[in-house]
Amino acid sequence: MKEVIVAKFGGSSLADSKQFTKVKNIVTSDKNRRYIVPSAPGKRNNNDHKITDLLYMCYQLASHSINFDEVFSIISKRYMDICKELNLSLNIGEILSNIKTKIQEGATRDFTASRGEYLNAIILSEYLGYEFVDASELILFDKENKLNLEKTKLQIQSILANMPNAVIPGFYGANISGDIITFSRGGSDITGAIIASAVNSQLYENWTDVSGFYIADPRIVNNPRNIDTITYKELRELSYMGAPVLHEESIFPIKSVGIPINIRNTNQPDDPGTMIVNDSHPVNYAENITGIAGKKDFTVISIEKTMMNEEKGFFRKLISVFESNDISVEHIPSSIDSISVIVSNSEIHTKLDKVIEEIKIYCKPDSIVSYPDMSLVAVVGRGMINTKGTSAKIFTALAKEGVNIRMISQGSSELNIIIGIGNKDFNKAISAIYEEFKTKKGEK
Ligand code: ADP
Ligand code: ASP
Ligand code: MG
Repeated sequence: MKEVIVAKFGGSSLADSKQFTKVKNIVTSDKNRRYIVPSAPGKRNNNDHKITDLLYMCYQLASHSINFDEVFSIISKRYMDICKELNLSLNIGEILSNIKTKIQEGATRDFTASRGEYLNAIILSEYLGYEFVDASELILFDKENKLNLEKTKLQIQSILANMPNAVIPGFYGANISGDIITFSRGGSDITGAIIASAVNSQLYENWTDVSGFYIADPRIVNNPRNIDTITYKELRELSYMGAPVLHEESIFPIKSVGIPINIRNTNQPDDPGTMIVNDSHPVNYAENITGIAGKKDFTVISIEKTMMNEEKGFFRKLISVFESNDISVEHIPSSIDSISVIVSNSEIHTKLDKVIEEIKIYCKPDSIVSYPDMSLVAVVGRGMINTKGTSAKIFTALAKEGVNIRMISQGSSELNIIIGIGNKDFNKAISAIYEEFKTKKGEK
């Protein structure tokens, strides 16, 4: 059987014609790279805009009947320049003008946003000489706009079966009425994973602008160490807790079939990057943590009540307050006489006083205090379960830097430790934990 690699290229990997040239070199250097999933052009530098952001802006303006010519012309120029610089004969101007008309005529938000990937995939297919297959034919959503994975896989298998190569736009698909539906932001990673699983590929390559997953966010820590192997579960914890490298939902389609994911750098294609592998992969105890990630802007509501665990229905009453106020709960660490409920600031926003009043009425706590503007930092590692003293090391590292820890909780899988700190200490805390764990045991 022929080997198949599905390769997804992120926005920065396709931000301009120079990046397209790098992508072509990568794709053609291995004939197994048969199915290619591009994102929309990303930023070329820090002051630049992502095409997807500009498209959302066009939609916003159009939906208020405000002229969006200026924003759309920035988008058009990006694509026209790429085509011109790559000497493509494609009539991209006409495709752009049809899209503009559709937005003027009231196209949906998802349709508008999806055009970034649609256009980029058409250009890339022309440049590579690969077939273009629209994601609206392959990625199928049901009536409720939920992905129908089974139907999608069958459809991909039947359409791609006779195609040696293809370019398929990331980020979107269509529902049974034919309406375009997008995944959440960063969702081209999910498209790549779905295609990899449907075609039973040996490997899912995810090409981006960093040489793999680092122990900590390179925008916070200078030159962090690279992770060579990480499991699906650890990756999900880190992605969920704020590391954007791979969309956390990318794991679902490939987990059951165990396809490894390789995060690679389009700008340094010889770097091996990070392998994301099955959860049963053996642990290297030289590294007791795998990575650190974090998210800002939470509110923690801490409740104390002696013997709360003996009181029938206490937890149900507490949670129902959040449910009835339509607030989703992020995390609920608890100890014998206290429990904290962590919610994002944006969810609780104007409802905080009401929620506190209701908890007082229903749960009659001994005390209740809320802490706004908190961050959560997760330290993740499958090696932690067998390594003593990880929490102590984290405490010490943070104490040395004067970071006040408001909450600490260890997940039941012992795969992660989550720490609550003030937003103002976010970068300091991540750097301090990184410094503590950056050297492998036995290394200087
Ligand atoms: P793409 O556009 O290719 O999908 P993303 O912007 O989604 O790329 O993800 C890559 C970016 O993630 C990097 O440029 C980097 O700044 C950021 N990042 C945050 N945390 C990490 C981490 N732990 N390891 C590597 N990159 C990280
Ligand atoms: N272009 C989309 C976004 O900016 C999807 C992606 O990049 O994966 O979110
Ligand atoms: Mg991404």
